[in-house]
Amino acid sequence: MIVKCSYCGFEQFVKDCKFDRLYREEYETAILVFCDRTCCDSSQVPISKGYIKSLMWLGGWSLVRLMTTEEYKAMKRAKQILEAGLAQMDTDS
Ligand SMILES: [Zn+2]
Repeated sequence: MIVKCSYCGFEQFVKDCKFDRLYREEYETAILVFCDRTCCDSSQVPISKGYIKSLMWLGGWSLVRLMTTEEYKAMKRAKQILEAGLAQMDTDS
């Protein structure tokens, strides 16, 4: 399996069995893949709503992939708690 960086085009070979076991699932939902070279620092890349950045994927690589339903729900819940907390602060003051 050849994994290719979406940003600079750098390619890395990973054994299929290892790739299937550890990386394929995430890779197939990924919209962007970044290699571990400093030119491809994904921390500067803005991500759209509904996507999540997965760091240290394949060693130093990272990727941007669709959120799973569970992750989406968890994020939504966290946001609701935060908003409820802010609303509480409003009424207190
Ligand atoms: Zn790259």
